[in-house]
Amino acid sequence: MAFKDECGVFGIYGHSEAANLTYLGLYALQHRGQESVGIATSDGVKLQMHKAVGYVADSFDEPTISRLTGMSAVGHVRYSTAGESGIKNAQPILIDCAHGEIAICHNGNLVNAQELRDMLVREGSIFQTTSDTEVLLHLYARSKAPTPEQALVESVSQAQGAFSLVLLTKDRLIAVRDPHGFRPLTLGKLGDSYIVCSETCALDLIDAEWIRDIEPGEVFIAGPDGTKSIHPFAPAPRAHCIFEHVYFARPDSYVFGKSVNEVRTELGRRLAHEQPAPVDVVVPIPDSGVCAATGYSEASGLPMQMGLIRNHYVGRTFIEPHQSIRHFGVRVKLNPVKSILQGRRVVLVDDSIVRGTTSRKIVKMVRNAGASEVHMRISCPPTISPCFYGVDTPKRSELIAATHSLEEICRFIGADSLGYLSLDGLLSAVGSERKSYCTSCYTGDYPVAVPQNEAAYLQLALKLVE
Ligand code: SF4
Repeated sequence: MAFKDECGVFGIYGHSEAANLTYLGLYALQHRGQESVGIATSDGVKLQMHKAVGYVADSFDEPTISRLTGMSAVGHVRYSTAGESGIKNAQPILIDCAHGEIAICHNGNLVNAQELRDMLVREGSIFQTTSDTEVLLHLYARSKAPTPEQALVESVSQAQGAFSLVLLTKDRLIAVRDPHGFRPLTLGKLGDSYIVCSETCALDLIDAEWIRDIEPGEVFIAGPDGTKSIHPFAPAPRAHCIFEHVYFARPDSYVFGKSVNEVRTELGRRLAHEQPAPVDVVVPIPDSGVCAATGYSEASGLPMQMGLIRNHYVGRTFIEPHQSIRHFGVRVKLNPVKSILQGRRVVLVDDSIVRGTTSRKIVKMVRNAGASEVHMRISCPPTISPCFYGVDTPKRSELIAATHSLEEICRFIGADSLGYLSLDGLLSAVGSERKSYCTSCYTGDYPVAVPQNEAAYLQLALKLVE
C-alpha cells in the first residue's frame, strides 16, 4: 500500500463527446495517478488542451470541457515517476513541429532517457520539463522521416524501457506499446469510436466494449482511413509488470488478459497455504489488501472482518507538506475497529512492505486497539530491488527487505510473525503465462538493462511517500 501509482492514459477517436468521455475515462483511472491531470482534443484542424494539478473531478468543469472541442482526445493522470511533480510535468505534452501538432501521454519509464536527453541537449535541444516523455517529442520533432507516422516510429525506436503511449495528431489517434509490454494498454469500442486506455475499468464506466489488448510492440493508428496496426520494433521477451496484479490495477479491471480480482484473490489463497497463521480473524489492510485477504480467508477457513477502516477522502496534500503532519498520516488514513480487534489474534494481509515504517505504525495501532496477537502476511515476495520501468520505488538501500532478514523486518514492524508469498506462489497465480511477467523488484534480475548510475537515475526518476 505504500507504493505510489505511476500513470494512467486514455484516448478516443471519432466521438462527438470526445472530451467528456476522456474526462470519465480518467475518472476511472484516477487510482493510477493523483498529482495532475490533462486532456487534449483535436477538432481536425487544431489541438487544444487543459491541464491542472489535482484530481480529475476538481480540475474540469462544464465550461472547460466545452472548450475542448473535437471528435478525438487523449488524456493522462499522473503521479510523477520521472521528473519533478507539478503542472510543468503534467501531461499531455503538446508541441507543434515540422510534422504538425502532436500531444503525447506516457505511462512507463525510459531507462535510456538521460542518455538521450544528454545527446539532444548537446545538439541544441531546449527542454521545458524534466519528464522523460519530452525526450520522445524532441526525437520526433527532429526526425527527417517523410510522414508523421514514420517519424513517430523512428523516434520511439530509440527508446528503451517501458512505454504505453497514446498520441493525438490533428487527424489521428495513435497507441504504442513497448516490445516487452511492461505496462498495460487496451483497446475498446464505443459505437464506431475507438478507445485506448490503461485499464478496462475505464471502458466499463463509459459503457464501451473491450476488444483486445494493444500487443507488445504494436503501433495502433485510428484515422480518417480507418484503423491499422504495425509492428515496427524487434520482438522482445514479454515482461508484463506483475505488480499491476499485486497492487496497481483496480480489481474490477482485466490487465494482461486476466481479471485482477481473480489473480489477487488467488495470491491470498496461496499465501494462506504457504504462510498459515494461528489466529481468530483475517483483517485486510484496505483497500489494496482486500482481495488477497478474501482469498486468505477462503483458503484458511478463517473469518475475514474489516478491522481497519480507510478514510477515502484523504488527499496527498494533507500528508505531504511537513514531517510533523506526515506523522499522523496512517492515523488519518486508517482507523481500527476496536469491537473487531479487541482480545483477538489477528492476521493482517497487505500487498507489500517497502520501508516498513507504515506497517510498523499499523501493527502498533492494531495492538493498541486490543488485539492479543498481530501477525503480518504479504501477498508477494519481499521487495528487494528498485523498479526502473515506471513504478515508484525508493532506492535499494531504503527497501527494508534489501537490507534486513525476515526476522529483522518482523522485529522492526513489531509483529508476532511475518510471512511473504514465495516467487513461485506469485507466478502460479497468473497461471500458464508466468514466463511473460517481469518480477525484477523481487529478484533483482532486469529484463531490460538498467541505467549504470542507479543513484542518479533514481534521484531523477523515483520518489516514494510512505
Ligand atoms: S520491477 Fe516490479 S514494479 Fe517494476 S515493472 Fe517489474 S514487476 Fe513491475
